[in-house]
Amino acid sequence: MAEGQHKELAGGYSKTQRAVETCVLVVFAGVEVYLLSGLIGPLMPAHVVVLPVAMLLGYLGADFLSGMVHWFCDTWGSISWPLVGQTVLRTFREHHFDSKAITRHDFVETNGSNAAIGMVPMLCTLPLTPQESLWSWGAVLCGCTMSFFILMTSQIHKWAHSDEPPRPVAFLQRWNLILSPRHHDKHHTAPFTRNYCITAGWLNPVAEYFRVFPRLERLITLTTGVEPRKDPLSDQLIAELLRRLPPKAPLDATEVSASVEASAAVPQPRHP
Ligand SMILES: [Zn+2]
Ligand SMILES: [Zn+2]
Repeated sequence: MAEGQHKELAGGYSKTQRAVETCVLVVFAGVEVYLLSGLIGPLMPAHVVVLPVAMLLGYLGADFLSGMVHWFCDTWGSISWPLVGQTVLRTFREHHFDSKAITRHDFVETNGSNAAIGMVPMLCTLPLTPQESLWSWGAVLCGCTMSFFILMTSQIHKWAHSDEPPRPVAFLQRWNLILSPRHHDKHHTAPFTRNYCITAGWLNPVAEYFRVFPRLERLITLTTGVEPRKDPLSDQLIAELLRRLPPKAPLDATEVSASVEASAAVPQPRHP
């Protein structure tokens, strides 16, 4: 059952979805290049100040959005939902079922679904004329940076799970300039509800300090009555996982993980 379930999760990526995502990626690149080319012109000293600020805000915006989307997709909904169930939630469910699967995805499968949502910030700046004012120049740069890093979020996440990321990437990870494996490990450690931001990970301590996600979950449960992490599919996966554990398996979470890994190719447990 779990094997079939795994196939259902991993096999949900259809040829049609790949074709659509390839088109979206091409359009994304076109819009990004078009907008960035509009920024090229005579640089004034003020541009030099605005440039890092706009890029930093864009990067943080992508990190923030990665946290919100990741939290939502891990916490609410089911892959049986129409459209987003198979195209979006499926990848998040698969990831907690088999965290290395992402490393086996090619460029389109890894980044395609992010391209559509990633286009939103730069499309918002489309009506602005960058040369008109410093403000509009900064806004376009900020939108383009945010879009670029939303697109790159899954790639950065994939690198955080890769055993041997490219050298420049490993350098960026070591200096925490992008999501590092060590930082992201906390997300894959019980209770699996921390460090949702997966672009830079810089906003995770802030979210943790203000208990942003637990508070949002309480608010949603209070207003809708829906409990977080109640996807029947994940319950089935955990039931199957427990069934496969050897008799008298330890009940301590860490020991269970070790026991699962040792008991030949049983997939990782996803969220409780
Ligand atoms: Zn997750
Ligand atoms: Zn991960």
